[in-house]
Amino acid sequence: MGFDEMDVDTIWMDGEFVDWDDAQIHVLTHGLHYGSGIFEGARCYDTAEGPAIFRWEEHLERFFQSAKPYEMEIEFTAAELTEATLELIRRQDLASCYIRPIAFYGYESLGVSPGDCPTKTAIAAWPWGTYLGEDALENGIDVMVSSWRKHASSQIPTNAKTTGLYVNSMLAGEEARRNGYAEAIVLNKEGDVAEGPGENLFLVRDGEIYTPGLSESILDGITRDTVITLAEDLGYTVHDNVSISRGELNTADELFFTGSAAEVTPIRKVDNVVVGDGSRGPVTEEIQSTFFEVVERETDEYDEWFQYV
Ligand code: PMP
Repeated sequence: MGFDEMDVDTIWMDGEFVDWDDAQIHVLTHGLHYGSGIFEGARCYDTAEGPAIFRWEEHLERFFQSAKPYEMEIEFTAAELTEATLELIRRQDLASCYIRPIAFYGYESLGVSPGDCPTKTAIAAWPWGTYLGEDALENGIDVMVSSWRKHASSQIPTNAKTTGLYVNSMLAGEEARRNGYAEAIVLNKEGDVAEGPGENLFLVRDGEIYTPGLSESILDGITRDTVITLAEDLGYTVHDNVSISRGELNTADELFFTGSAAEVTPIRKVDNVVVGDGSRGPVTEEIQSTFFEVVERETDEYDEWFQYV
């Protein structure tokens, strides 16, 4: 669904709430030419206590951390960005939504050096349903291993959520979709499993859970961290500092993706090879249902993860 079909009308830009159609930038913006922006993607869930943003503090922290390698000075404090976001959700009367903060080098000159380009900061929020399709959560998705590799962390900071990095995600994801798959799995430069274009990956084998370590050129996903915590609290052993080779994708009992947009999405085939019995496996199901119980606040536990609107 395009933005024009949504009931949204306001964007926060550099300290002001502006009409959706007026949230414009110059075509010679540095960030447009060189991908010099950093961003976040968080979800706000509709709960019995009203809208609640999931792990907002961690998203904001990663936002500020992502700016560091680029020496980008965000001109607003975390408290100001939080206040702006809460007000943006209230003004648009959104119950559940996706929240997209972005900061980027703006308009002044176009050398690769950002020089005097100002840092622009904006926040948008809009309703966004299931990222990988309606039945993906229940039935899982078919994925392919992309022929594109992730950039190595020696080439670009992969732990920063930088706009420019996402051309790699786009190449991998579109290659997959062009070939009839819902999403890609991207290997790192060494040829081991890294992550999805916008998701972290988990593997289940013999009742234990595995996910590539942070040194495998992955984003330090907040849903990844959530799932590790939930799984350990459910009594699972989680190996979160391992390399996973490509062949292990085929011998896994279960595989699933995690992400703020993708939530917990089962994978049922990789390169047309069936994973486990080809449906959402029992461990994935338990973690997924626990995840949704938590984010929809059907439990009092983990309340510290929520910022109520
Ligand atoms: N990896 C990449 C490349 C991503 O873009 C995302 C989405 N932000 C993730 C992993 C998952 O991270 P999170 O759970 O924080 O959304």
